[in-house]
Amino acid sequence: MTSLLSVRNLSVFYGAGAQAVENVHFEVEPAKVTALLGANGAGKSSIMQAIAGLIPSRGQILFEGEEMAGLPTRERVRRGIVYVPERREIVGDLSVRENLILGGYQIPAGERRTRMDAILDLFPEIANKLNGGAWRLSGGEQQMLAIGRGLMSGPRLLLLDEPSLGLAPLLVRRVFERLGAIRGGGDLAIVLVEQNLRMTMRLCDDLHFLRSGRIVGYRRAEDLRDDTARQQAIDTYLGATSISESEDDKAHA
Ligand code: ATP
Repeated sequence: MTSLLSVRNLSVFYGAGAQAVENVHFEVEPAKVTALLGANGAGKSSIMQAIAGLIPSRGQILFEGEEMAGLPTRERVRRGIVYVPERREIVGDLSVRENLILGGYQIPAGERRTRMDAILDLFPEIANKLNGGAWRLSGGEQQMLAIGRGLMSGPRLLLLDEPSLGLAPLLVRRVFERLGAIRGGGDLAIVLVEQNLRMTMRLCDDLHFLRSGRIVGYRRAEDLRDDTARQQAIDTYLGATSISESEDDKAHA
């Protein structure tokens, strides 16, 4: 099968000598969820931002076989790559509806309305607050809005950076349930950065483990269903990191 995304020899530098990502390779198949796991500072967000075209990088980023290097973020969005950042970056001064419209500014108005209706069906929590200021939303609702805004342009690849960040366990579960519904509903592929391993395992097909900017291991989720195998992968690849095994742990504060 042809990969939707092929990342080859990807490196990211922040100034001379500060290498955050080193020769990273991975593939994302259509409709699959691929997780990037690693401690704080391992380079996960840098990889996501490089794929989205938000920071410069070296190496190849092939999307549907075409090189993305040199293309601005808006062109990558047009082609179907959408990044939902860790800090959500919703516009608090705008209404919930306006934030969603921002996510779909590149598509025709009619299509935008249909897509907004589908997203509000998926996230009824924000449907009730459509005309209110986005700043009024709770953390979980803001995450739903950020994901919804990301879906507005109809992406083929959603880059989700720590959707559980700062959320209480119940909300983490709710957000992941909705992500499960999204992945079940079509051919959208997701690259997921997470620190909540058990939740990630429920959703993903493939896991890549990162340490100090390098991929140090790969496992299929189905190989880690067994507790011992999972613990072994944690010990081998993650060590004493802040990765959370428990469903009830907050990802981090
Ligand atoms: P976290 O889980 O904390 O978000 P991460 O795995 O996403 O971590 P990155 O944010 O990609 O890691 O950071 C990788 C490395 O690059 C770290 O050493 C970090 O300090 C460094 N770094 C990230 N952003 C910048 C920046 N804008 N300028 C300089 N160094 C940066």
